[in-house]
Amino acid sequence: MSKRAMENVEESFKKQTNKRNKHWSLGLVESMKDPDAIYKETKNIVVIKDKYPKAKIHYLVLPYEEISSIYKLNKTHLNLLNEFGSMFNLIKEEHDSELQAGFHAVPSMQRLHMHVISTDMISPSLKTKIHWNSFTTSFFIPYEDLMRKLNENGFIQKISNETHKLLMSSPLKCNQCSFEPKNMPQLKQHLLTHIK
Ligand code: AMP
Ligand code: ZN
Repeated sequence: MSKRAMENVEESFKKQTNKRNKHWSLGLVESMKDPDAIYKETKNIVVIKDKYPKAKIHYLVLPYEEISSIYKLNKTHLNLLNEFGSMFNLIKEEHDSELQAGFHAVPSMQRLHMHVISTDMISPSLKTKIHWNSFTTSFFIPYEDLMRKLNENGFIQKISNETHKLLMSSPLKCNQCSFEPKNMPQLKQHLLTHIK
């Protein structure tokens, strides 16, 4: 093989490896190191801005400790999770909007993360029924519920694929009134009527 051909092979191998190392599901771990993404940090946790916010305010709270998801939690993590709660209170003090904190029952991104999101749900990145249902059905586990489950059981139970599918295909319903829109454009239009 010529030297040039050898260099080409090495180059393509490097590209492949980089691609593998930067799998999309590791995006939060990358953002945790990005000063532009960070909103707040302490010794143990960091708050970043969600890159594709699903409401006017949308942060993610993550631990530096390598906990991949809610399914890896046990009672030894309760102190750390109490810090998540204090951080939520601090973020609430800094914003006028109504905020909720919680976890997706089946997270797609690696590293445990708690969503802190405003209830307006007004954002160009909120596009699909799956986006909507992931924050407005019981797929969204409020912080207090997660803490109670962890205290009572010592772990977080996975939901079945069937439950997951059912929750994602739930009919659209406004999170602020009883309106049942026919589709996402109608829902997004309707959300504007709730702006105070
Ligand atoms: P989930 O894993 O479903 O709980 O949600 C992952 C969240 O991460 C979503 O709200 C995404 O918009 C957000 N997200 C995806 N990639 C990034 C990134 N690189 N930096 C910050 N937030 C991200
Ligand atoms: Zn409504």
